[in-house]
Amino acid sequence: MKLAELVTAIYEAFDADLALADVHAICEHDRYQASAGIMAAAAYVADQARAAGLSDVAVLTFPADGARRWWTYRAPQSWTPVKATLSVDGTLLVSYPDQPYSLAAYSAPTPPGGRSLALVRYSAVRAGAADPRGALVVADEPVPLGVVAGPMAAAGAAAVALDPLSEVPHRLPDQVGRLELAAGSELAAFSVTQAQLSQLASAADAGAMAQADIELDPAASAMPVVTARLPASGPDDGTEVLLSAHLCHPRPGANDNASGVAALLGIGRTLAALRQASVDVSRPATGVCFVWGPEFVGTVAYLHEVVGSGQAPAPWLAINIDMAGPDVARCGGPLVIERGPDDIGSFLPALATRVAALLPPASRSYSGAVPCDPWTWRETPFAGGSDHALLADQPAGAQVIGLGHWPDRANHSSADTPDLVDPEELKRTAVIAAACVAAVRDSGDRELAADLAEATIGWAAQHVLAVLPGARVPSPPRVGEPVLDPLDELNAARWLRHRGSVALGAVAAVAALRGVDPGWLRPARDWITSLIEITATRLPPPVQTGPRDPRADQPPVTRCWEGPSNLRALAGDACPADREWLNERLAQDRGGNYARALALMRAVNGKRDRAELSWWAALSSELPITLSFADPFCDLMDRAGWARTGSQAGQP
Ligand SMILES: [Zn+2]
Repeated sequence: MKLAELVTAIYEAFDADLALADVHAICEHDRYQASAGIMAAAAYVADQARAAGLSDVAVLTFPADGARRWWTYRAPQSWTPVKATLSVDGTLLVSYPDQPYSLAAYSAPTPPGGRSLALVRYSAVRAGAADPRGALVVADEPVPLGVVAGPMAAAGAAAVALDPLSEVPHRLPDQVGRLELAAGSELAAFSVTQAQLSQLASAADAGAMAQADIELDPAASAMPVVTARLPASGPDDGTEVLLSAHLCHPRPGANDNASGVAALLGIGRTLAALRQASVDVSRPATGVCFVWGPEFVGTVAYLHEVVGSGQAPAPWLAINIDMAGPDVARCGGPLVIERGPDDIGSFLPALATRVAALLPPASRSYSGAVPCDPWTWRETPFAGGSDHALLADQPAGAQVIGLGHWPDRANHSSADTPDLVDPEELKRTAVIAAACVAAVRDSGDRELAADLAEATIGWAAQHVLAVLPGARVPSPPRVGEPVLDPLDELNAARWLRHRGSVALGAVAAVAALRGVDPGWLRPARDWITSLIEITATRLPPPVQTGPRDPRADQPPVTRCWEGPSNLRALAGDACPADREWLNERLAQDRGGNYARALALMRAVNGKRDRAELSWWAALSSELPITLSFADPFCDLMDRAGWARTGSQAGQP
């Protein structure tokens, strides 16, 4: 079978209407990590997985006591809100659950019947002109909850009202953003619109009182992880590929991530149905494992408890779907195929991008020569913002990709509703994942295996050629401090070496597939190698810009933490000054500095010194990294005991 035929068959078999119905059903539940809502959503997913024809469907439950550890990850705490209201002088202003997202996660309850609260402006508290004790603090200036919550709780405030979207342009009507307090907080917080915030501020000026009434479900909930399996068609070779989509986030959470959960259910239905029609079932093949749980903690619990105890094999290949189906015109971001980390040789980006190109086109160009689509996709370097980061990390070390969409202007807000889900876009995301899995399972078919090998060789060549000066999009000019910039022309030779090894790693990885003939790959490897050499001759010669890097020839840095990287836990182990430094960097550039930090952690391998690991992080994230970021981050890891530089450093 040709890969194109497989993609078309899966595309035609995928039922987008059923997937949209799943999105609507999941959006009914407020899916805090360990709550009655996520338990109900888990039960729904398990029922649908059984109906889809998947086997070994189970809802695993883990204690949500905030104490259990899976490597450096800590179990969440049970928290189920029942209702919450905020009124001023008897006029109802905020009402949960009618207004989704209006109550911050982990808000403390009020006594039954509610509580009267004085209203004070945050600016007045800061100026020492108002007393927050027992009051509702109105955040009348743009400030993150993380900055306000600690000091206000310490000062005895009862609650905070805040608008986390105050600086977001083109806000949707009545859109309120996500607020999350620390688990076990003694404070409550309300997420409000600008109009509600002004009303509260005026009421504070007028000396009015607020009434808050917050009721939580006293019953403790567990943390659920739903697992299901699609056995190999025919003899099972004992290996597993894994599909994951996080089940958590407050209601509605349509694109993030009811759409990913629904995509996986749809993939299960499609692959289970196709399996019946499979031609040759005599060859051993890989099984497929489906995992739906709260983001990060659910996956890490699965890896630690289920894989770690030998109840399931460690996945060798994994696809995570997070935000499968935004209406791209209204939400603002394309389909993103995110590569796994560069140190794991992988054919998955090659396969996924090839499948994306093979999806049936909506139309053709005027002459018919070129297939045309109004939708688009981008391949991006590893950033690690969702569960694929855990599956690619120690101990699983799987080849991974992440499928999703970015940006999304409704993300993490009350506006993430099912009417912003485009079932056709959801279907495209799901079909890319399903076709990748099906192609790997059926790679005993030599025709299909040949297509997989060709796709990988072509991708590897493109990956190298992208370094050519004429193919590269230059970075914006930068002034001032020293920066490791992979896209700077002066660093092209370094970037070529890095990309060349990634390209050869992809070709080596595809050799592991059953039907792939190693004889096909030998000349391909030689060809890619010569392509790297020829490309090198086209690059401008590296210019010596200054004295030798003073950080060269430092001792290697060793990884001292177990299990997958966990930036939050690292921050927790850092000293207060280092933690503050990191939080400021993340506040400046959430996505970029998260990806840089994760790449620096990943680069620590006991062999690279600081200069080498900083370069590796820049080259693999494809982000410029300043020395004023890399060096303090390495110091932070050392001081937190997460890394050891040389034999002496890192001692407390
Ligand atoms: Zn998500």
